[in-house]
Amino acid sequence: MQMVSEIEPYLSEAHRRVRAQARTVAREEIAPLTRQLEEAGTHTNTVLPVLLAKQGWTGVLIPDEPYGGMGAGHVAKMLLIQELSYCNGAAGTILQASLIPALALQALGSPEQRSQWLPQIASGLWTTIAVTEPDTGSDILGMTSTAHPTSDGSWVLNGHKCFIGNSHIAGLHLVVARTGTPARRDKDALSAFLVEADRPGVTVKQAPSTGLHGFSAGTLVLDNARVPAANLLGEEGQGWTAAYGASMVCGRLNLAAVALGLHQRLLDDTITFLTTRPRRGGHLSDNAVVRKRVAEIRSGLMNAELAVYHASALLDQRVPCDPALLNAKLTAKRAAEAAAQHAADLFGGYATRTDHPFARLDRDIRHIAAPAGPDDIQLHHLGEATLGSERVQWSALFTRPETPHEPAPAH
Ligand SMILES: Cc1cc2nc3c(=O)[nH]c(=O)nc-3n(C[C@H](O)[C@H](O)[C@H](O)COP(=O)(O)OP(=O)(O)OC[C@H]3O[C@@H](n4cnc5c(N)ncnc54)[C@H](O)[C@@H]3O)c2cc1C
Repeated sequence: MQMVSEIEPYLSEAHRRVRAQARTVAREEIAPLTRQLEEAGTHTNTVLPVLLAKQGWTGVLIPDEPYGGMGAGHVAKMLLIQELSYCNGAAGTILQASLIPALALQALGSPEQRSQWLPQIASGLWTTIAVTEPDTGSDILGMTSTAHPTSDGSWVLNGHKCFIGNSHIAGLHLVVARTGTPARRDKDALSAFLVEADRPGVTVKQAPSTGLHGFSAGTLVLDNARVPAANLLGEEGQGWTAAYGASMVCGRLNLAAVALGLHQRLLDDTITFLTTRPRRGGHLSDNAVVRKRVAEIRSGLMNAELAVYHASALLDQRVPCDPALLNAKLTAKRAAEAAAQHAADLFGGYATRTDHPFARLDRDIRHIAAPAGPDDIQLHHLGEATLGSERVQWSALFTRPETPHEPAPAH
């Protein structure tokens, strides 16, 4: 049975074209790679990035003029990531991880930086945003990586970044490091740098992972890595804005789109299992209790799609919508997780088999929790936006067409 998506009435013809193209590539070219990716376990797949870049999808948010991107907007981006993730979580995650630094570059880069890098990204240069550190995690202001200025104006970077999406395929890292004094927790104590992957002192290490096989989320080591003054993104002190703004405006929705793709796949696989598994002259799907559980999985998906595409459409309309972005990630992640729990019960003994497709979906869904912030952090910010003093709308800052040299907003 083909189900009509909740968002169908709100899509333009251009959106439908992007989705159809993504669906074809995902189902015909990416899905057949899944078994091989699973068998390889933790590794960096190099076929997927080529397939994705060939479509121009690394430039989905980058304007056509003057940078040669698709300029297709946030709803189109979400459709792409969702379709890819439906077939393979790693494919959706690879694409989404590089869209985050590209948006930060668009929002904060100087005209020269945008002209230099955005056309390269649009034509397939993979990038990372390197913020998280082993000891401080989501406490960005606690980071210890440093960037020191030198007498010739260049910067020397030192530190370790972990869980860095696309670590092993990126040609460019957007690194956030401390330029202020060590103990300062002020937001302007951090700055952002464009660090080419082939600079001396830049190395990456793969980290073992339970899922998203083929996606690299490794450690980036900066050991006296020197970059010229021109590689400071925007102005000194804008590191917090780059890290937090890009994660809020791009990262939250990206992970929500991965969740939607995996969730839809879980629903479809569960329906196939239940409607074909014989039971008492009929099928498992005839059972009322089983149907109620399927209804729970579908209801969660319907609600998540509405929350996620509502937030994406607001971004495309340049409506400040930070609470909707927080809620989108929270809702999609929770719904996918709850769906996996129901599916685990419905698949019975097969849910325990490593060779059953459920195992991959279940593992990949767990990977959505931490990136762009765990539930507790979304709730913290949603609470602040509702009752506290948090009034910054990152969505307003990051969706302006060209926003160079904004001062870091204070909150
Ligand atoms: C697949 C994947 C991809 C990723 N991609 C990137 C990337 O591209 N770039 C990057 O920089 N990072 C990336 N990350 C890292 C991710 O952003 C961090 O894992 C996340 O910020 C949480 O940090 P942590 O894991 O160190 O947990 P911690 O910050 O140590 O938090 C652990 C737990 O403590 C609780 N907690 C912590 N702080 C708070 C708080 N303020 N309020 C309430 N509860 C709190 C929460 O329950 C939280 O889950 C990725 C992670 C994964 C798994």
